[in-house]
Amino acid sequence: ATPLLQVNGLKTYYTAKQPNGFRKAVVKAVDDVSFRIYEGETYGLVGESGCGKSTLGKTLLRLTEPTAGEAVYRERDLFRLSRSELRTLRQELQIVFQDPFSSLNPRRTIGKTLEEPLAIHGIGTPKERTERAFGMLRTVGLPAEHYYRLPHELSGGQRQRIGLGRALIVNPKIVICDEPVSALDVIIQSQMINLMRQLQAELKLTYLFIAHDIGVVRHISDRIGVMYLGKIVEEAPVDSLFSTPLHPYTKVLLSAVPNPDPVRKKERIILQGEPPSPLDPPAGCTFHTRCPYATELCRNTPPPKREAAPDHFVACHLT
Ligand code: SF4
Ligand code: MG
Repeated sequence: ATPLLQVNGLKTYYTAKQPNGFRKAVVKAVDDVSFRIYEGETYGLVGESGCGKSTLGKTLLRLTEPTAGEAVYRERDLFRLSRSELRTLRQELQIVFQDPFSSLNPRRTIGKTLEEPLAIHGIGTPKERTERAFGMLRTVGLPAEHYYRLPHELSGGQRQRIGLGRALIVNPKIVICDEPVSALDVIIQSQMINLMRQLQAELKLTYLFIAHDIGVVRHISDRIGVMYLGKIVEEAPVDSLFSTPLHPYTKVLLSAVPNPDPVRKKERIILQGEPPSPLDPPAGCTFHTRCPYATELCRNTPPPKREAAPDHFVACHLT
């Protein structure tokens, strides 16, 4: 099958002042990332905060401009669209943020908040928009009277349902979910994930699901990409990644996931230190400063990405 979205060699660089304040340095937030997403699936993107996953999501929507690469969506390169073409296509690609209300008017009712994307895209009459807002409240499992409420009257979980509703109300094909459940407690998290899966099936949605917690991503993803310092270091179907992780960094992330099975208890691997600054990434394999298996080769030569098993890609000299 042809992917719905094919990203090739994506780089998003920007300049920032170095901590000493004198010289400017290039931050390679996303550094040569390639992956594809098929229609109806969920691609999970995991990694520590600051690894570039949110920048990647924003770049796909051109909320941040790419430095190089292409993102082919239905035979069009999203990075080569004019502003007006982009506006049309943007309806098909929506994003859900961790806190959808941080950027919204706190005095606007939930109903008007849901209607706003329809108004922006010029969809329907005011009366039709109102009907769709009521319909969307039903879709995301909230009572109709929430239409008249204000954001602060809702719980975190209810607000995230509105964030999802705002994305879905324009009938998108791809939804980029940037840490949509990270601020919620565990029970609300799983309710939200279940709702997202159910709506994915009903509305034939394709998700790019971004999170720092690989345990959360597991329950919704078909394939997972593991990101470290701007690069995808391992990518595999979810079962393959959990049963046979190959990259040392993936093993670290997996060892932090609580394991209910006492027979297969894993030892928790604790990483040394913080991730290096993207202002000054290590040479060779960028993970070598924290990797227990690093060799001379790792310190000097970036590992190439290879297909270790069908559809299972890894960039590590060890494998
Ligand atoms: Fe560790 Fe070397 Fe593999 Fe990098 S290439 S993850 S440093 S073993
Ligand atoms: Mg982020």
